[in-house]
Amino acid sequence: MNKTPKSLRLHIGIFGKTNVGKSSFLNAITKQDVSIVSDIAGTTTDIVEKSIELFPIGPVTFLDTAGINDNTELGELRKEKTLSILQRTDIAILIIDFEGLTNYEEELINYFKEFNIPYLVIINKYDIEQITSDKYNEIIEYNNNIIETSTTIDSEICSKVIEGLVKILPEEFITPKSILGDKISSGDTILLVTPIDKEAPKGRLILPEVQTIRDILDNDCISIVVQENRLKEAIENLKIKPKLVVTDSQAFKAVNEIVPETIPITSFSILFARLKGDLKSFIDGSKSIDNLQPNDKVLILESCTHHAIDDDIARVKIPKLLKQKLGFDLNFDYKTGHDFPSISGYKLIIHCGACMTNRKEVLSRILISKKKNIPITNYGIVISYCLGILDRAIKIFNCE
Ligand code: SF4
Repeated sequence: MNKTPKSLRLHIGIFGKTNVGKSSFLNAITKQDVSIVSDIAGTTTDIVEKSIELFPIGPVTFLDTAGINDNTELGELRKEKTLSILQRTDIAILIIDFEGLTNYEEELINYFKEFNIPYLVIINKYDIEQITSDKYNEIIEYNNNIIETSTTIDSEICSKVIEGLVKILPEEFITPKSILGDKISSGDTILLVTPIDKEAPKGRLILPEVQTIRDILDNDCISIVVQENRLKEAIENLKIKPKLVVTDSQAFKAVNEIVPETIPITSFSILFARLKGDLKSFIDGSKSIDNLQPNDKVLILESCTHHAIDDDIARVKIPKLLKQKLGFDLNFDYKTGHDFPSISGYKLIIHCGACMTNRKEVLSRILISKKKNIPITNYGIVISYCLGILDRAIKIFNCE
């Protein structure tokens, strides 16, 4: 379980003002000294992440955030980081004390609502001072999933917190989305095209390929993996035509030419646009490509950091394809990991397949982009759009 990728774990954000007991809680629930506990407010200056197996929920990642209620310059930085954590939080724990809800907690609750984050409330420190019934009732008006604890968080309290978390588990975590389960049937053959080029990691397949193979097997189907130079031969050798061909976006053009029209094709990136984001929003976003003007600013988001090679997909291939399609240059900016900058001024955002992050983060980015009226799309969709094969590449999804 400890090897479960972070992208597949439930992300539980721990929020609360400085020195309210967030780090003590994290140490208690993980039974480890993960966070520094100190009486000096603001000791947690950075995000602390801890992945554990939390029975009976399963693989989770706790995100211990810095309190965002201090007004120093460092406080502003902490605030930015805490807000970026909200974007990938599946469920939240809001820790407060006898002071009840202040403007600060109400601001956090508003963020939870904005990003559709279910949460529970822990009222800490009742051994120091008990919360008044008026203040308690104010909390109930927002949320009745409340647990009270003293500064000593024992295993009984931890069990109650876990029960509280189980009550707010997102349906998607209880029944995870299948990558292809609704598009394939038991016994179908799916052909996967994975070029082993300079971008391919040594000795292994990349996560979207591995997860897709596992999903095909989970759905009792047959998975055949080839490089593009063997694709024609593989199709000819099959007695029954494959239900679908899934390709790395880099081989889209060749795959489109090789695979007969009667067999649907798509890409790993498009499968992940659907799994990690929202396919329809990304397709809508691609429609703005034709409205771009010379030198417009385009933001490319990659959910992991990797060494960019000579013909990197984001830095070379996508800019080249867009230039061929539009006939002029655009200005590209790049952000990696959880970095999501101010997006004002961008005319288009292009997201990678996001295999290394959780769905919540991509959905939050889509939400923010839509609020700012900035179109957002994804690698596979841009590539197939520029190659003129988008309709074919999404046909199997009936555009949902
Ligand atoms: S850039 Fe995106 S799609 Fe590519 S490996 Fe990283 S997270 Fe996955």
